[in-house]
Order: sequence, then structure tokens, then C-alpha cells
Amino acid sequence: MKKQVISIFILGITVLLASCNRTSDRDTSNSRNSNKSDVEIGEKVEALLAKMTLEEKIGQMNQYNGFWDATGPAPEDGDAADKLTMLKEGKIGSLLNVVGVAQTKELQKIAVEETRLGIPLIIGYDVIHGFKTIFPIPLGESASWDLEAMRISAHIAAKETAASGIHWTFAPMIDISRDARWGRIMEGVGEDPYLNSVAGVARIHGFQGDDLSNTNTIAACAKHFAGYGFAEAGRDYNTVNIGISELHNTILPPFKAAAKAGVATFMNSFNELDGIPATAHKELQRVILKGDWNYDGFVVSDWASISEMIDHGYAKDKVHAAEIAINAGSDMDMEGRSYEVGLKQLVEGGQIDISLIDDAVSRILRLKFKLGLFDDPYRYCNEEREKNDIYTQEHLDIARDVARKSIVLLKNQSKLLPLAKDISSIAVVGPLANDKDSPLGNWRAQGEKDSAISLLEGIQAVVSQTTKVIYAKGAELGLGERSFLMPLKINKTDTSGFNEAIKAAQQADVVIMALGEDAFQSGEGRSQVNIQLVGVQQELLEAIYKVNKNIVLVLMNGRPLDISWAASNVPSILESWFLGSQSGYAISDVLFGDYNPSGKLPVSFPRNVGQEPLYYNQKNTGRPSNDQHVTYSGYTDVSKEALFPFGYGLSYTTFDYSNYKLSSTSFNGKEPFYATVEVMNSGNRTGKEVVQMYIRDLVASRTRPIKELKGFELITLQPGESKTVRFEVTKETLEFYSANNKWEAEPGEFKIFIGGDSRTTLEASFTFE
Ligand code: BGC
Repeated sequence: MKKQVISIFILGITVLLASCNRTSDRDTSNSRNSNKSDVEIGEKVEALLAKMTLEEKIGQMNQYNGFWDATGPAPEDGDAADKLTMLKEGKIGSLLNVVGVAQTKELQKIAVEETRLGIPLIIGYDVIHGFKTIFPIPLGESASWDLEAMRISAHIAAKETAASGIHWTFAPMIDISRDARWGRIMEGVGEDPYLNSVAGVARIHGFQGDDLSNTNTIAACAKHFAGYGFAEAGRDYNTVNIGISELHNTILPPFKAAAKAGVATFMNSFNELDGIPATAHKELQRVILKGDWNYDGFVVSDWASISEMIDHGYAKDKVHAAEIAINAGSDMDMEGRSYEVGLKQLVEGGQIDISLIDDAVSRILRLKFKLGLFDDPYRYCNEEREKNDIYTQEHLDIARDVARKSIVLLKNQSKLLPLAKDISSIAVVGPLANDKDSPLGNWRAQGEKDSAISLLEGIQAVVSQTTKVIYAKGAELGLGERSFLMPLKINKTDTSGFNEAIKAAQQADVVIMALGEDAFQSGEGRSQVNIQLVGVQQELLEAIYKVNKNIVLVLMNGRPLDISWAASNVPSILESWFLGSQSGYAISDVLFGDYNPSGKLPVSFPRNVGQEPLYYNQKNTGRPSNDQHVTYSGYTDVSKEALFPFGYGLSYTTFDYSNYKLSSTSFNGKEPFYATVEVMNSGNRTGKEVVQMYIRDLVASRTRPIKELKGFELITLQPGESKTVRFEVTKETLEFYSANNKWEAEPGEFKIFIGGDSRTTLEASFTFE
């Protein structure tokens, strides 16, 4: 795993470690934390702060990567030995990438028993979509539009993480991401501010529960603050140039919702915004987050983002970087080593006020108190829980359920799907068809290599004994070993497996083809300009199509792909993202009708990479429509519309929308105001529909998007059943960051659209007065 120096799950725990079950007997007079009311915690923090030296305070603000196998002999020299000394001197307040009870206990023991004040460490880890039980990648899970599923998956991730001695995850990522080229699009909720807000909050509740001192919960982190998803040209870490309206109306709302929901921490980001690195951004961190939003958690830098301000050309050295970052509101330095180098001399030289340090340290200590770490620093270090609570059958069952809810049916011509379980023959073809690793996706924490149920395994488990399943890989996708840090080598020439695949397809009633991306094609640093099926996959698809047109294309990928050819030719297409540990079972549940697909796209799928960034909630422009001339805002070679739009997804049944009405044609912002619609299941299977409500503010002091999602409801309908869905519209629904530089609803005409995706034209109008 990335940046992870320390090995995990060392069994055969020593007598020494067993002693760690005891609460430390160091000075805990300041730390009994039975009633965690804010006032009480505040007093404890004050009392502790009063005892701390400047070095000890700065120590709390340093976060380092795990640096040695703590259950082995202590390092004697080098960087690890230096860090060990720092740890013993109380100069490290947090570690990341230390995993497992044995490891975390050992390090906590040093912090608690060998430092002067015995302040426990807070240990963080990137638990992005599951710890060892792997759930769908966040973008995929967001396609479920099922907030309870997202909450539960985060809760299980938290339970497993906490059982492994860890207190804190660097998730959820709530960066609005509109660019399929950006590899980290897989890690978030996609292009919409509203969906990002509610999904982010659901995940925060899942990770944190109601009480952070509960040992089944962990602290969450809203990241990356802010604008990281707007990297120019989709190139990771690249410059971001956005205006005030984009910042406030698009990027900040999910973060504001996260702060309101009580997310324990924020992480700032690598990018600059309009010439100022986010890590240096006082307006963002001090004025908006800690000021306007009154946020009392702490801000951790991104990995070395403080020292990277030197490369940005914004700081001349680490001391300068530390000065800028602390002034701007970064409370903890993740592996940047700038606070370690710079803060002491800055305070002593009078360049920064000690009150800034005290504020940062208080925020960090507050969380340690809330987590109950002062009560018992080893409360997350329980060997029994580590043995029993991780990767359980119960967790796997839930992962399967969440996974199948995340699948999006993109096309189903002639109702090829669902397939009968007693179909006589199926060819299962493609480089990803029996891949047990890619479905785990990137950022897989402790997900074990090759531990996912492959699609082939899933199909074999469900079909009748008489069904002939013929597997042929057809081609390799990647060549050589996958690695977190190195780019994947793509097979661009070897088609030697094609013949076997063609033969398999010739013999079968239907061909299920698994194509897409390797897990390590998306994720951090994995930007691509090509978003088609890479390597020889397209060639393989067309070769199979020549001999058997009954193809069900199962896509596995971490970003929207340009699948224009497949969309025009292949009869059925399922978007399965990377679904995690139970992938093959979940996909088979949908292929064979045990689960009626209900997912809807959280991102637009383009027709061509040249459309990127592509998103439904665009502005109208001054030249919106094509009246036969070229002088409109479009392209001359391809439609400007998405291939599959935001919010889109089919079902094995159909839904009819009728009786759409607003409770009035005018709204004063005070009286209750509703949009209602009747939705009927007009097919013959029980199904789920995500009923979506969009608004448009026709004239405003800053131009508004042509549609903005403002609400949705996931409903289940039996065949023939109808439900009336009612959305309440409030003044807040209509608010935006106006030309007055504040959130307000401006009087005027609005439209409300309701339907099953963002292209819906079912509309009604009203006046806000
Ligand atoms: C990423 C963060 C992550 C951190 C720690 C950085 O490179 O941008 O999202 O939490 O590393 O692994």
C-alpha cells in the first residue's frame, strides 16, 4: 500500500504488547473524559495546553508517515531513528499509514508512556471505500443515490478501521469533479454540488456515528479544500482558475454541508486557486471555514502540500512555507516537515503569534479528547475485535448489496437483459472477466490482492447446471505488475488471444464482455487524455461483434468513458465501476434479474474526450441553440450533449411520470410550497426509481445553470403501483451566491423540472416574490 512502510497484522503478539491493554498510568489528571461535553473538553484542553512547551505544541501539529515495523527492533540510525527520537520527545502528534493493533499499540505506547505529557497519537489512514471489506469506489457507490447504503458502507469501513487501531480516515472526498480525464474522479461523488453534499454528509455520519468516542466509529475528513477537482485539462495537481461564482456556488456547498454535519477534520489541497495555493489560502480556511462557518475541527495539510508551496513559487523555503501555512489556517502538517523546521523560530522571532499555535493545537487536542484517547489511548487496540470484526460474512453481504445498488444499466435493447439462469450457453470474454483484483479499484486500503469475486465466478455461481459457460480472456489489458505509484503498461499489440475468444463467442447464445480499465488507471496522479477503451479492447469488442451480436458489455472503470461505438452497436451495457470485494456476485445479481438495476449516473458520459469537462449543470451562454448555423455554442463535429447524461440509468421495468403540478404559481418564501408528481411502475417487475427535481433561475444577478439538482427521492414500486412524490421547495432551495456576494434568493421566474434524469423536460414555472 502507498507510502506504507510498516507491515500489518503481525500475529504472535508479544507479552510486551499484551501489556498495552492497560490504560496508561501516566499523568491522566487532565484527561479523564467521561462526559464529553464541549465545555468540559474545552477546559481540559486549556489545562493541558498550559502545561505544554512550545516544542510540545508544535509536535502536536506534525504528522508523519509510519516509519518502521514497530514490532521489530527499534531503528538505530537514519530517518526512522530520527523520527523515533522525535516521537519520544513528544514532537509528533499524529501518524498515518500505520495499520493493525500490534503496530498502532506499540507506537501509541511510546507516545503515552515515554513522552513527558503522555499525549496520545491520532492515527490516520486513507479508508476511501472500505478497509478490508471493499465497497464500490465512491463514484460508483454514488451512482446508487442511496444515502443509507452510503452511510452503512462508511460505517462498516469505520468499524473495521477502528478494529485495526486507527482513529481517523481521510475521507470523504467531496471535490466536484467534472472532468473524466482527472483520475481522482473515481474517489468522489461526481459533478453535482447537491449530490456531493448529501452523499458527503451520509458518509460522514457513517464514519463518525453520533459519538466519536464509540470505538466503532472514526473521525472523518472532508477533502480537498478546495477546488482540487477543477485542475486544468484534468491533469492532477494542476492549476485551478475559477471565479467567485464557481467557488461559492459549485465547489464550496458540499464542504459547507460537511462542516455543518460536524465532520471532525478538513484537508486542504495541492492546487492553487487564482495564484494562491489552497494551503496558503487564508480566505478559504480562516475567513470562510473557521470564520463564516464557525468550524471548530482542525485542518490537516495534504501530503507535503505545505512544503510544495516552494515548488509552486509561493514560499522561498520551509520556514517561509510554515509561516504562510499557519497564517492561512493549516493546523497540521502532513509529511511536509515545514512546521518541524520553521514554527519554533517563527514564534521565537516574533513573526507569528503564539495564539495561532495555541488555536491549532487546541483543535487537534479537542479531537483526541472526543475520540476518548485520553481516557484510554489503547481503546482502539483490541486484538479480539481485530480478529472478529474485520472482513466478516455480514460485511461482505452488505458490500454485495451496496455493490448491486451501484450498477447502472446504460442500454438494454430488445430486453436482452435479464438473462435466464438456465440459458444454454454463455461466453464470458475480456481482460477483466476473470480479474479478481481490478474490481477492488484504487485506494483499496487493506483489500487483499486478488480477493474480489470475479465476474466469471459470479456467473458460474448463479447459472443452472446445464448452462455451458465458456471463458476466454481474449487479450491482456495491462502488462506486468500493477503498482500504486508507476503508470500501468497497456497491451497495445498482442491480439493472440482473439481467436479463442471469437470461437467462444461463436458457440454461445450470449457473450458477456468485461472491458474497461485496470484498477490503477484511475486514482491519484492517473490522469489520462484517452478515455476510450484502451489497448486492444475496442478491437476485441468489434471482432466479437462480427460473430455474435448478442453482447452484454459489462464496464469496469473509475471514470466516465467514451463508449460511443458500443452505445450505437452493442445491445446491452452495464456500468459496474469497480464494485469491490463482491463485484462478480453483485453484477450477476443484475445480469440474471435477482436485482433490478436502479443506479443513476453521478457524472455525464461524453461522446468524445474533447467535450471534457462535461457536466449537465452548465450555463446557457448567449448562443445556446443550433439554428442551422455554426455560430452557436457547440461543436461542428460532435453533438454538445452527453452520450449518457447525469442522473441517467435504466431499469428492467419502466416508470411513467404524470400529474405534475406545483402547489401555486407564486411563492413568497414563507408559505409551504411543493412540487408533486405521480410516478407509476408501468412494467412488470418491481423496481426502484430515483425521482429527481431540478430548478432553473431564469434571470439572476449572476447567471445560473440551465438545471440544478435540488432534491431526489428513491422509491420502490410494484408493477402497476403508483406513488405521489412531493418535494418541498423552500427559500433556501432558490438561494445562490449572488452579485451581492451573499447567499440569497432573488425574486423572479423559476422553473422546476421533475423526472428520471437530468434531461427531463417535464417542467412547471412559478414566480418567487
Ligand atoms: C492525497 C490525499 C491523501 C494523502 C494521504 C495525498 O497524496 O491527495 O487525498 O489523503 O495523500 O495518503
